[in-house]
Amino acid sequence: MKEVKECIYELSKKLVVKEDIFKKNINIYLAPNRNEFEYLILNILKINIKMPTNKGRIAQPQRTDLILLCPSAYGTDSIYKYNFDDYKRLLIHEMVHMFHEHLSVDMENIARWFSEGIAIYLSKQNEDEDEFKTPVIDGVLDNKIPTIEDINNDIMLSYDWGWSIVKYIDETYGFDVVLNIVRNCGSDDVIGFISDDKGGFENNWRNWLLDTYKIID
Ligand SMILES: [Zn+2]
Repeated sequence: MKEVKECIYELSKKLVVKEDIFKKNINIYLAPNRNEFEYLILNILKINIKMPTNKGRIAQPQRTDLILLCPSAYGTDSIYKYNFDDYKRLLIHEMVHMFHEHLSVDMENIARWFSEGIAIYLSKQNEDEDEFKTPVIDGVLDNKIPTIEDINNDIMLSYDWGWSIVKYIDETYGFDVVLNIVRNCGSDDVIGFISDDKGGFENNWRNWLLDTYKIID
């Protein structure tokens, strides 16, 4: 619980949120196994998701509710091994989604790469966890950088590459621009929202990726 409070405090600062978006009330459910996890998603969040759920799925946020698969079930019911630091980053990741849902003009339609990208970037999963880091590093080294259109249209690519675009926007345009997207962009054309020259943006992002992640020997 201490971690949750810290996390809400840090994210409020980072995302410049003055109000208490949870109104002092955040519900975190720890499901003891995958059956219960699915039951809670269906009956508490009332979200219709594909059943049975994938073993890679261990958290589902909605508004002020967050359902988590309890780490004690990781061995049998997930593809993950429990580690305290990973778990803290997972909490931050899910709470970024909760803040985003609260702040966004239209969370349903925003590009998936942006919502996952910012959750991965702000929780620093891309720095500390291979699962998030390697697809970009390998892609750059193998000269297999997808186009932004491909990323826009593919959920896997959104998870793999989204954070690199968010990081690029933060480093090049500043975090205020990232915040402006969080609050005011409600479409899948995030690049068009911030730039009139989408081709130029894409080229610069590619070059930045090559500069940042290519190991030259
Ligand atoms: Zn996510």
